[in-house]
Amino acid sequence: MTKLYDVIIIGAGPAGLAAGLYAGRARLSTLIIEKGQDGGQISITDEIENYPGQNPEGESGPELIARMAKQAEKFGAERASDTIKEVDLTGDIKKIKGTKGEYEAKTVIIATGAFPRPIGCKNEGQYIGKGISFCATCDAAFFEDFEVYVVGGGDAAVEEAVYLTKFARKVTIIHRRDELRAAKSVQEKAFANDKISFLWDTVVDSVDGDGILSSMVVKNKKTGELTTITADEDDGMFGLFGFIGYLPRSELFEGQVDMKDGYIITDEDMKTNLPGVFAAGDIRVKSLRQVITAAADGAIAAVQAYKYIEG
Ligand code: NAP
Repeated sequence: MTKLYDVIIIGAGPAGLAAGLYAGRARLSTLIIEKGQDGGQISITDEIENYPGQNPEGESGPELIARMAKQAEKFGAERASDTIKEVDLTGDIKKIKGTKGEYEAKTVIIATGAFPRPIGCKNEGQYIGKGISFCATCDAAFFEDFEVYVVGGGDAAVEEAVYLTKFARKVTIIHRRDELRAAKSVQEKAFANDKISFLWDTVVDSVDGDGILSSMVVKNKKTGELTTITADEDDGMFGLFGFIGYLPRSELFEGQVDMKDGYIITDEDMKTNLPGVFAAGDIRVKSLRQVITAAADGAIAAVQAYKYIEG
């Protein structure tokens, strides 16, 4: 017989793990289901500097997330590694089907987060993992002494561009406008870095190469001018990193949970339109998507799940 959990948490990023910690401490029988590695986006973040109480010298996302996971497990949260394919969240008993098993709970906390937005250029799919990447922490070392290009102008793009200068010979930020969106302190680091240059008002139109990325066409948005960028002959390739925001991982819940632009709508108690169903972290409509706000959402959702179960 399928075990009936008090709460099932889908996703083991900061929101899901914080929810697991709070649910475990409330003595709710808790299952956290994650399809890949723990941490969501911060598992691919090289340096976290702004999570209160962390090592002030800075620490990596995986280090921080490993402690969060350990803490949730310490208070009894069970773990399952499974990819969820189908959910029925409308009844009193919430039913969840994965590729490996079926799960049931009185409450569900959706903490599935978001994934990197594709660059949106022609042939992109052919070169992912062959020059195109969305994770500097994972792939920077492949570009030791090569040239790399970074698309985007927000905090992620600029911070990761600075990180990439530790490996690459030269880093060029390609941004669709003529000013960055990133925080001023982050911008200052990039402007002060000799290895970083900028292509303003520019987007990537197409990418090409012989199996590995070695050329691309960029387009000036103001003039419409197309320019071909080719890898240095000795290099034979270059890197292209995309950091242009995220898309919500919410398709599973479409038609059941109310959403806006794919993000789940909650109230300030993380309640969705469905009784016993909560959402926490980047998956939700909110103004600030950070580790701290994800963790806070998770705590609130778990406390509300407890209150819901207690009636
Ligand atoms: P973001 O702040 O939304 O920035 C996305 C960037 O990509 C923007 O510069 C945007 O250009 C550009 N962009 C969006 N769609 C594009 C497209 N189709 N083609 C070309 N460019 C496109 O995203 P983010 O940098 O990933 O950050 C997400 C959230 O995490 C933010 O709240 C950010 O503050 C936070 N974050 C914080 C830190 C930190 O505090 N250390 C680090 C990383 C991320 P426009 O500027 O023209 O819109």
